[in-house]
Amino acid sequence: MLMPNPSDSPRPLSRKLKGYAFDPSLSLKTDTSDFNEIIYKIPWEDNLHLGPKGEYLEIIDYDPTIKKPDGAYGVFYKGVDLNDPYILAEDGLRPSDSNPQFHQQMVYAVAMKTIKNFEKALGRKVIWREKAFSSSISKSYIKRLRIYPHAIREPNAYYSPAKRALLFGYFKSTPSEKQIHMPNSWVFTCLSHDIIAHEVTHAILDGLNLYYNEPTNPDVLAFHEAFADIVALFQHFTMPEVLKSQIARTKGNLENQNLLGQLAQEFGNAIGGYGSLRDAIGYFDKKEKIWKRIEPDTSEYETVLEPHKRGSILVAAVFDAFLTIYKARVADLIRIASNGTGILPDGDLHPDLVNRLASEAAKTAGHILNICIRAIDYCPPIDITFGEYLRAIITADYDLVDDDNNNYRLAFIDAFKRRGIYPKGIKTLSVESLRYQQILVSNKSEKVLNTITEFLKEYGRIMKFRSSRDKIFTLTKVYIDGENGEKGLHQKMYDEVYSNDNSAILTGIITKKAFNKYGINNGKHSQEPTFAITSLREISRIGPTGKKINQIKFSIVQTARLVFENDGTYRNKKRGGKKIYEI
Ligand SMILES: [Zn+2]
Repeated sequence: MLMPNPSDSPRPLSRKLKGYAFDPSLSLKTDTSDFNEIIYKIPWEDNLHLGPKGEYLEIIDYDPTIKKPDGAYGVFYKGVDLNDPYILAEDGLRPSDSNPQFHQQMVYAVAMKTIKNFEKALGRKVIWREKAFSSSISKSYIKRLRIYPHAIREPNAYYSPAKRALLFGYFKSTPSEKQIHMPNSWVFTCLSHDIIAHEVTHAILDGLNLYYNEPTNPDVLAFHEAFADIVALFQHFTMPEVLKSQIARTKGNLENQNLLGQLAQEFGNAIGGYGSLRDAIGYFDKKEKIWKRIEPDTSEYETVLEPHKRGSILVAAVFDAFLTIYKARVADLIRIASNGTGILPDGDLHPDLVNRLASEAAKTAGHILNICIRAIDYCPPIDITFGEYLRAIITADYDLVDDDNNNYRLAFIDAFKRRGIYPKGIKTLSVESLRYQQILVSNKSEKVLNTITEFLKEYGRIMKFRSSRDKIFTLTKVYIDGENGEKGLHQKMYDEVYSNDNSAILTGIITKKAFNKYGINNGKHSQEPTFAITSLREISRIGPTGKKINQIKFSIVQTARLVFENDGTYRNKKRGGKKIYEI
């Protein structure tokens, strides 16, 4: 008899790992314990080492707050080996809040799931923010985001752009009511799906748009927070067990209080709140002690400035768009189940109906998550506003989906309008006026466009089907900066723009000549205002109807020195810094 050679077995596509759908607190409640322990299916990594340490992530479990017998502080916990046959056979370690190796598995699983969702929607590999001022291209490449599951002993978790790391805290709870959460019990932020997904999103967004941590207007930091919440929220819908339980509980009406629209339950309770840390559709009325639906209020966008609270306005708008589309998609099912009255009979929903409603909710949520992520590529590289994000959403969807049968775009426009979010310079809020239009090219300016398109076509050919992230990174850098006397995209554009006014106009790059023409004072600076190409990537996306688009995306950011006539109104802020994002 011939025994099959083990190496002939097909390579697994995914790795299954046990974890909490939300956080440990839901495993202690009878109505949520059934679905809180789920299996995360994440991409299989051949080279996954202890830690885990793989292609994108390195989990480093160092706790600087633990006192050792010799009086010094700091302990390393042994990294989990997810390739251990016993662990593999059991789909990972069992969820446990007291086992540090499970904590490592949980952060790894959720972070990888989030990365996978981004890569699917963006149509390219995720690459972390590069190291600035490096002596060589290879030294500026950051292969892995580092994750510290037990980094601080405080109720917080954050992404540090300077360290390219996620730092998760843990703390003793101080709940407002003992029935909600046990006082003085340990709460680990690294065990919360929502907090992990939120922080990883900060890191991914920081790699995509380097200047979104510079608060040039009140929306910028709020956008970072909102976007991170949107990703965490819509990932709830990718968990079938959770989705079905919540559909059954709300009888399909997701406008009622449910876990899908809430973020970080345990954290919210443990720091003295009544329920989740944030809720996209409702809030807990402390006086009446009941949950209430939030009514959209256009004045909030004018007055609320704290980034998380301001971000909640955008999250609510996106969730509202989701609810509108979901309701439209299930209207026929509800009519059938209610004999045309729209009012479902008392008692539990039929399991078949729960399955159908859950399937519609999952499809809608998946599409919304994709639109929201894809829209990032259509946003300006600096100074983002919520209104511009709406324009990006509409344009991104228009590019990939020809026929908007389910009125996704109108649902977004309406939800933003109800919260007073309008893009600047738009006269009417229609899909046509919101969509970014293609540039019309006159003959005079064609030369710069030809130079750029020929160059980008070549870049596209070189990058096609490349899967190695470090190769993508290094080759792209060479294409931007040039090598061995060959001009890169930056130099080629520079030559065109500073020798031809029309080229400058077409690209939007401001030259010194333009400054002089408009009487803009840029001081005694004799040099031209500089510009940088902050990103260049090849994109290959597939839409919900199977439509495939290949694009090259690049962004230009220009820095110019300006002198304001009225002294004191302008302060020259230094770029960069150590801005951190709190939960
Ligand atoms: Zn945050």
